[in-house]
Amino acid sequence: MGQPAVAGGVMSQPEGSMADPTDRSGGVPGVGLVFDDRYLTHSTGLALIDDREGYPFAEPVPHVSGPALVGRAKHLLDLAGISDRMVRVAAYPAADEALASYHTPEYIERVGALSATGGDAGDGTPLGRGGDRIARLAAGGAMAAVDAMMTDRVRAAYALVRPPGHHAMADRGMGYCIYNNAVVAARHAQRAHGVDKMLVLDWDVHHGNGTQDAFAADPTVLFLSLHQEDLYPPGWGGFDQVGRGPGEGFTVNVPLPAGTGNRGYREAFVRIVEPVARQFAPDLVIVSAGQDGSVVDPLGRMTLTTGGYRDMTTQMMGIAAESAAGRLVVVQEGGYAPTYAPYCTAAIVETLVGGAEGVEAIPEPYGARATSMPPSRELGLDADRALELAVTTVRRYWDL
Ligand SMILES: [Zn+2]
Repeated sequence: MGQPAVAGGVMSQPEGSMADPTDRSGGVPGVGLVFDDRYLTHSTGLALIDDREGYPFAEPVPHVSGPALVGRAKHLLDLAGISDRMVRVAAYPAADEALASYHTPEYIERVGALSATGGDAGDGTPLGRGGDRIARLAAGGAMAAVDAMMTDRVRAAYALVRPPGHHAMADRGMGYCIYNNAVVAARHAQRAHGVDKMLVLDWDVHHGNGTQDAFAADPTVLFLSLHQEDLYPPGWGGFDQVGRGPGEGFTVNVPLPAGTGNRGYREAFVRIVEPVARQFAPDLVIVSAGQDGSVVDPLGRMTLTTGGYRDMTTQMMGIAAESAAGRLVVVQEGGYAPTYAPYCTAAIVETLVGGAEGVEAIPEPYGARATSMPPSRELGLDADRALELAVTTVRRYWDL
């Protein structure tokens, strides 16, 4: 994919120490990892599914967007020797000014006030006491990943942040998201580092409505979303949502039917993502990476496996290598199977790091079943049809 040689370029350092950012002995800087233990203190509490009034006798269970998802992913990276081979990038809390690149001052103030008691920041968006600080640290984590990359400390970065961001709208939280981390990081790249054009690719199983809203009228940011059709939020992510005004054509939605799987996603990359991205030629690539398209996710039905996530990561690295000097920031979004999503996240990070010395390949926990599933090998007829529908619309703006 035109990537720089990886193995010799990833810095190794004594266990437990930070990588020396000035070390260019390998010729290519390493891959950054943003993680902060405080992400695990974002409390989502207990929950019932949807309408609380309708289920008066069911006891609540831990909220699906709990800390284990990100925490277990970090532990997997540690145990496999991957995080030791990465450049640790410290998160910092996003300031009001950075958040206001998308969010309204009223909303920022409301989250701050709500943080004193805990509550709901929007449509089903739990915020524990002190949660504003952690949400700012998530947005600032994505910003720190951009900083590290734009100053050549790292060649790419994974921001393993929490809470997620892509549903958050300008004036309200939504879908477990407080601040829109990817949007704030993208605007930071433009304002602080003079980046011109960016591709934001969102492969979370849900539609990145906040991100789409932020960039709908902006031709400098191409928003491209692959998601399960008609899932969440209702009314968002149809292939006919193409952006508006000067941004028309710079929003590309690829709604896919349940069960699309590795093979269908690959086809989406071949038919739509790669040709559109190549023509747009971004200077920086951001991936909103929700691993809730996985085969065992409680909130999605897309049957992706670790192999599918490795594949998509490789494709995105290739796209970044073509026009963006490899600059790729992957920002954690959803992913709700605590037994499986962390493996998908680790597979993505492992792919970013490449075959570095001392890194153990993380096995596919679903075993041979992952490759024996038909959606891992075959393009379903309904997925094929959905892709053709999307292509028909996208063709109005891009050569496909
Ligand atoms: Zn999601």
